Amino acid sequence: MRFTKLRLNGFKSFVDTTDLVIHPGLTGVVGPNGCGKSNLLEALRWVMGENRASAMRGEGMEDVIFAGASTRPARNFAEVALIIDNAERLAPSGFNEADQIEITRRITRDAGSAYKVNTKDVRARDVQMLFADASTGAHSPALVRQGQIAELINAKPKSRRRILEEAAGISGLYQRRHEAELRLNATEQNLARVDDVLEQLA
Ligand code: ATP
Repeated sequence: MRFTKLRLNGFKSFVDTTDLVIHPGLTGVVGPNGCGKSNLLEALRWVMGENRASAMRGEGMEDVIFAGASTRPARNFAEVALIIDNAERLAPSGFNEADQIEITRRITRDAGSAYKVNTKDVRARDVQMLFADASTGAHSPALVRQGQIAELINAKPKSRRRILEEAAGISGLYQRRHEAELRLNATEQNLARVDDVLEQLA
């Protein structure tokens, strides 16, 4: 699984459709302060399912939509697509049928986010699990924010363990365990209600 292209449309400063082609090897992005380098990394994190507006340096998720400039009106939506080369069929099962995977996230003002994988509507969770199972994603330690190294040095052991777990590719299992625990709790509560009803009938 190799990221080959990031396409931005109306995302932050990228008001016009912009393709960032990622060739094999090292890709460097250089430019003056404020030209949008960090916005590119945020677009990558966002399309992989980031749901914290603070991680996008905004107060609400709609802040990622192009807010307008003196010469351009604000946009009503933002869209980011991530194109992945899957010729070697390394994608997690369920997403592994095609040579290429295109994940799209679109946010529309007052309507929230919608995700697609190869034009099929999916849930945010499906996209998050796809990347978690591939040992990457919005919280991957491979994506290093400004100031993150200092945070890491000062991190508590529990946070450091998460980084090791991410590297070991087991963070998807944690998410599934958490969901299983929620279902178990709900079932235990239902059983308790059934006991109450049976007691009343006895
Ligand atoms: P530096 O080198 O200083 O870290 P950078 O190249 O990483 O800068 P970014 O922080 O990615 O730059 O981009 C900041 C620019 O994006 C600012 O000019 C800001 O006005 C613009 N920007 C951020 N959000 C939006 C938005 N919603 N609409 C329009 N422009 C936006």
